[in-house]
Amino acid sequence: MNRPVFAANWKMNNGPTLAREFMKAFIDQFPRQNDRTIVFFPPALSLATVATALGERRDVWLGVQNVHWKDQGAFTGEVSVPIARDAGARVILVGHSERRHVFGETDDETALKCAAVERGGLTPMLCVGEKIEERDAGQAESVVVRQLRTGLSHMTQLATKDIMIAYEPVWAIGTGRTATPADAAAMHGVIRRELASICGDRGRVTPILYGGSVNPGNAKTLLAAADVDGLLVGGASLDASSWLAIVRS
Ligand code: PEP
Repeated sequence: MNRPVFAANWKMNNGPTLAREFMKAFIDQFPRQNDRTIVFFPPALSLATVATALGERRDVWLGVQNVHWKDQGAFTGEVSVPIARDAGARVILVGHSERRHVFGETDDETALKCAAVERGGLTPMLCVGEKIEERDAGQAESVVVRQLRTGLSHMTQLATKDIMIAYEPVWAIGTGRTATPADAAAMHGVIRRELASICGDRGRVTPILYGGSVNPGNAKTLLAAADVDGLLVGGASLDASSWLAIVRS
């Protein structure tokens, strides 16, 4: 397995006050580690608080949950890649299922966003995953492959630049229903093969994270599944003790 990546997606939770309290508890109990990478995706307004709390901790990365594909301009309410980079972000979540299915983000928009992240010198974490009706109709693989291929289609430096992929079956996100390690391994294998054909050798070492109702009780077995290089965690990342248990898996 590659060096594991543990990513916390706080979604629309933990404003600056709660973020400061969370990070104090986390930093106090999680000394620097060289064998894993931790990523926090706080809401944009808590990014500076988390960055300040982290200080010199280079083993913990900061990310933003969404960006616009333009670098600047009249886009009220949006955040651009240069702004995210200036605020200390290294990773950008692209195409999270809530962006796709609550806010109507399309595959083509994820492609523009991944290209903007590459242009800005940051790392995209592209999320892919099928809905339950797509899985039941036998379309899970084709949906995931389409999202992956389209999402990466405008990037020009895939052979040399870092990217991350998160497989998050929509039916497992926030539902308490987790994919089995075998389900995860099967889809991660599909993604790994696609990445090898899209990115060449680099595709073999691109981190592929699993996400969907991960908790301290299932983290270890999911992480042990073939081609699972890390975990993207929503609900269970909001409680410092359950997040600590997961990152120690
Ligand atoms: C997520 O938001 O990416 C996620 C996987 O959420 P949860 O862990 O709550 O299912």
